[in-house]
Amino acid sequence: MQPSTSMRHLKRPHGLAARAALFAAMLIAVTAALTAAILIVGAQQASGRDQIVRIENHAKQFAGAVNEALANGTIAEIDALAQVSLRSPSVRGISVRTADNTTVFEALATSADAAALDRAARRVIAEGQLVRLSVDGGMVVGAPTQDGGVALRSWSDEAFRFDLLPALAPILLLLAGLGLTAIPLTVWLVRRSLAPLDELTRFAETVTDEGATQPIELQAGDEFRTLANAFNQMIARLDKSMRHIQQIALVDPVTQLPNGEQFVREVDHWIVQGKAGAGAVLVFELQRLPKLMQMLDQAATRDFMRVIAERFTSAAQTVDKLVRVGRRDGAAAMAARLGTVEFAVFAPGVVSASDAARFAQHLNAALNQPFDWRGHKLTLGACCGVALAPRDGRDADAVIRHAHMALGAAQAAPGRLKVFTQSLDREAVAKLTLEREMRGALENNEFRAYFQPKINLANGRIEACEALARWVRPDRTIISPGRFIPVAEESGLIGALSDAIMREACWKAAAWARAGCAAKVSVNVSALQFRSERFAENVLRIVQHAGLAPKQLELEITESVVMEDLDRALRLIQPLREAGVRLAIDDFGCGHSSLAALSKLPFDVIKVDQQFVRALERGDAQGAAIIEMILALADTLGLEVVAEGVERRQEVEFMAARGCHWAQGFLYGAAVSAPEFAEMLRRQAGEDVVAIDAA
Ligand code: C2E
Ligand code: MG
Ligand code: MG
Repeated sequence: MQPSTSMRHLKRPHGLAARAALFAAMLIAVTAALTAAILIVGAQQASGRDQIVRIENHAKQFAGAVNEALANGTIAEIDALAQVSLRSPSVRGISVRTADNTTVFEALATSADAAALDRAARRVIAEGQLVRLSVDGGMVVGAPTQDGGVALRSWSDEAFRFDLLPALAPILLLLAGLGLTAIPLTVWLVRRSLAPLDELTRFAETVTDEGATQPIELQAGDEFRTLANAFNQMIARLDKSMRHIQQIALVDPVTQLPNGEQFVREVDHWIVQGKAGAGAVLVFELQRLPKLMQMLDQAATRDFMRVIAERFTSAAQTVDKLVRVGRRDGAAAMAARLGTVEFAVFAPGVVSASDAARFAQHLNAALNQPFDWRGHKLTLGACCGVALAPRDGRDADAVIRHAHMALGAAQAAPGRLKVFTQSLDREAVAKLTLEREMRGALENNEFRAYFQPKINLANGRIEACEALARWVRPDRTIISPGRFIPVAEESGLIGALSDAIMREACWKAAAWARAGCAAKVSVNVSALQFRSERFAENVLRIVQHAGLAPKQLELEITESVVMEDLDRALRLIQPLREAGVRLAIDDFGCGHSSLAALSKLPFDVIKVDQQFVRALERGDAQGAAIIEMILALADTLGLEVVAEGVERRQEVEFMAARGCHWAQGFLYGAAVSAPEFAEMLRRQAGEDVVAIDAA
């Protein structure tokens, strides 16, 4: 969270105050303009009226003077009087007429006025009263005399001159003063009335930065209060929705436990808080759960998951108290569901590997107790990986990843729990490197089938072989399957790898048969291959392509793979049996085959596991008894038996004497490359066979 951004937001632009000030200024300007206009028009009208009165008076006076001059018989005076009148700026023409319209005197500034003067004079003589005529640029006033009339042309341009500035100055000064006080006052008023808006803005920004806070209380009693109430309601709603979204995003909907996201947050929180050490991350996997879930419908699965979660949570709380006895820190362990079959606990304050292991051990034990559910007793096979924060990672992701790494190693570890160590990390890196190299090797065809001879004990001849995968690197070093098969199975590369071996084995066996020295070939089947529904189809397609008689191919499937799901195994191998492919149980005696299951399965061959042959070697009477039993059983069921890993002649003799059909082991030779094995076959068949093609 960066408070600096909110500080930046708080500087609200004062747009409204500026606009109000502008508005006030405009109002004053408009008032000034209107006042000026009114003043000017008013002054003009007053001046016009004044002018009329003045010219009329002038005309009357002039008429009076003319009357006097006429009465005195001093007509020559009229001329002098007219000259005086003409000096006035508002008179620009004069005409004096007698009653018969004879011009006594006439003086004109321009000849254009002559007609107007004439018209006015005629009218005044005719009407005998004052007349006023509007003419272009002024007026003509006529006043009657005792013997006729006078006409005065007035209003030259200079007649009216309105002096604007002195007339407007006081009012403009007043308005300027008003502007100087009104504008700051307006700004102040606007700001003052908008203060609640600032408060609301600040509140909204706090909510944006820090999430919902206390509702806002505004002192203003106006519309802002309504707005604040609307704000509070909106935020309360948003807060509710946010809580709901968080609930959905951070809680597992089935168990109501925190989910992976929330778990990561919690661990990160403790890593940031804890100085000396944050705590332990324990990741649990319930290995039998996926199979069980396959058999349950959705509702049942959810119900069962809730039962598991309850057990997990209560056990975590109990163990937490047990392990934290005597500690002062009060933070309780947090249980979470990370994945479908994965649970986790974060135990704050559990900082030593031994305490963490103790925690895991107790919790593992609690989870491994059978679950009583709907009348069934179900054991789920829990195992646990542990990592310490911040010892095993600077953030939650790293610590959880390391706990997962430990979980990967936990299955084979004592107590099915493992605390992360640096060597696990190195192993993981080595695995990843190997996996990357394997992908390249697959493309380069570096995985080859080597063939180990199988001896028919009835005649001592090599009549079959087992194809064993070898990684032949470009520098001719050979890597054996013990190293790469587990990685191939984990990474899913086993499918492509086994297909490559199967293909090569079938093509080679077909070539040997064509050359007249046939040998059956057996190929190992991985658990992963057997999971594919198209397993039989794939095998049969390869056999057909290679042109191999199906009865020449034997598939070695380990006991545990078959026993995982007996009915499915039966269904999968049925088409292969029908086609004539032989089936062998590999490593027999290591797993948990029941006699009933064995009799049900349509196998042709049992391969007795090497450990029993080793037992013979040690003179272990029990081992010998088991071999005898297996041989007797195979005899009863009509199965052939292969003794694996035979290294000494005595072992073969022991087995042969008890009806064992085949022997395979270093006594006869380790797996060799295809050309070497073909050479062995050729030598055995004598020189009369044709050369085996290299296909
Ligand atoms: P497996 O099928 O039981 O193969 C027999 C293993 O015993 C082979 O080891 C073989 O070299 C070894 N062996 C044979 N004779 C003797 C002996 O006299 N003494 C001793 N001590 N060992 C002997 P390898 O080749 O290392 O294969 C190991 C396992 O890898 C195989 O066990 C098989 O499960 C798996 N595997 C090998 N190739 C393939 C393959 O192409 N596909 C699959 N899916 N698995 C394969
Ligand atoms: Mg095998
Ligand atoms: Mg074997």
